[in-house]
Amino acid sequence: MSQEDNESTYHHRARKRFGQNFLHDEHVIARIVRAITPGPGQKLVEIGPGQGALTAPLLAAAGELTAIEIDRDLAAMLRSRFAGNPGFHLIENDVLEVDFAALAPGPASLRIVGNLPYNISTPLLFHLLQQHPLIHDMLFMLQLEVVQRLAAQPGNGDYGRLSVMMQYYCEVEMLFKVPPGSFTPRPKVDSAVVRLTPRRPSPFAAVQPQALAHVVKAAFSQRRKTLRNTLKEVFSPVQMASLPVDTGLRAENLGVDDYVRLALILEQGGASA
Ligand code: SAM
Repeated sequence: MSQEDNESTYHHRARKRFGQNFLHDEHVIARIVRAITPGPGQKLVEIGPGQGALTAPLLAAAGELTAIEIDRDLAAMLRSRFAGNPGFHLIENDVLEVDFAALAPGPASLRIVGNLPYNISTPLLFHLLQQHPLIHDMLFMLQLEVVQRLAAQPGNGDYGRLSVMMQYYCEVEMLFKVPPGSFTPRPKVDSAVVRLTPRRPSPFAAVQPQALAHVVKAAFSQRRKTLRNTLKEVFSPVQMASLPVDTGLRAENLGVDDYVRLALILEQGGASA
């Protein structure tokens, strides 16, 4: 069966539980492929290939691609569509269960791309951050609101836990917005394409991820309260008295470097009893 036959005879009903909104806008697809500019020999991994809207042009440009798809029917369709292409590899699994170390030929080698299922985007981003030493870069389509949170700077209402944790590890670059009409079915929200590039070298001090996550979570647990209030569960009164930030401020006023300084204190001194 030819590729065209497969495409015309397979009719997939989009599954909401897997966040399926398929890209059909050729202009947007071309822009995404250009933003990735895959080269031969790169280790390209696509999360959620769906019906292959991005997979086909990416595979054509890169020669080799590993796709991770949870939906059995789509996985079967992709297998048959790309059956003649030895560069196409499919992992039929939940991406949150995938060990990216097994896919990476070496450090900083993975180029991860995808029009991500919006319902799991935040846990997925945290899952990927744990693997940052393996990643060269990531290019994702996400809900616009999530991209705004990823890229937000201190003082902005969108600035929060996701901004600090992502920006500690990665440079965040919003590339362009994508309207609902570019997808079938149409999502209810606007989308945007973002590039996330692990910082090499990092401008920040190395800190235990758990310490940073703990401080950031506590600080943003009540955004409107001052740090004097929100951080008292994390630091002892003695530590609180000599923190290197103004504790009269709110969480959204501290930069990533401030959170790193706080996490280092937590790491060195331990949490209060
Ligand atoms: N890339 C396609 C496109 O642009 O048309 C499909 C994008 S659609 C927004 C998200 C895709 O991710 C779907 O194919 C869906 O089945 C898949 N998906 C959802 N949850 C997943 C998970 N936990 N692991 C792997 N794939 C998942």
